[in-house]
Amino acid sequence: MLRLLSALVEREALLSHLDHPGGRRPATGSLELVQAFVNTVDREHGPDLFDDDTGLQEWLARRMLAAEVLAGDRERALEVREALRSLLLANNGEPHDPAAQAALERAARRARLEPAFPPDGAALVPRAAGVDGALGRILAAAFAAMVDGSWTRLKACPREVCGWVFYDRSTNASATWCSMRVCGGRVKAGAYYRRRTRG
Ligand SMILES: [Zn+2]
Repeated sequence: MLRLLSALVEREALLSHLDHPGGRRPATGSLELVQAFVNTVDREHGPDLFDDDTGLQEWLARRMLAAEVLAGDRERALEVREALRSLLLANNGEPHDPAAQAALERAARRARLEPAFPPDGAALVPRAAGVDGALGRILAAAFAAMVDGSWTRLKACPREVCGWVFYDRSTNASATWCSMRVCGGRVKAGAYYRRRTRG
C-alpha cells in the first residue's frame, strides 16, 4: 500500500514537473516544455512515464498537447526525448552526438514543421497531427531557444544514472550538476560511494 502510494507520488511529480533538485527554478517560457519533456523519467529510481502509452498520453494532455497515442508513437517519443537529452549533455561539455541530431531532424520532418509569420512573432508550427505534431511543438520550442540563445543554459546532469535536466542560472553558466548535494557530492566522493553501494 505504501509502495503504491509512493509510486503514485513519484509519477505525479514527473507529470507536474515540480521536482527541481538543488532548489533550482525551472526554465521559463516554452523552454520549460522541453525541460519537462526530457524530465519525464527518474533514471535513478524510476518511474519512466513513457514506459506505457497511457503515461505518454497523460503527459501530453497535461501539457495541452493532447493526442491519441498510436502504434510506434511511444518509441518515437522516447527517441526524441533521449536525443534531446544528448544535446543537453553536450551543453554540459559532453561531445556532440550526430545520431541525436539526425533523430531530431527526422522528427522535425515527421512533424512537418513550417515557418509561420503571425504579427505577434514568427515561429515554427507543426502541420502534422497526433503525437508527431505534439513532438513538433517541443522541437519548435527547442529550436526557438537555440535561436534566442537561452538553449545553452539548459543542461543535462552528467552523472550517468541521473541525466536530470536543469536550467543553469549561475552568473557564468558554469553549473555542472543538477544538484551539488544529489550528484556533485557523490561523484566527488566517487570511490567511497561506490564501495558503500556495492557492499
Ligand atoms: Zn544529477
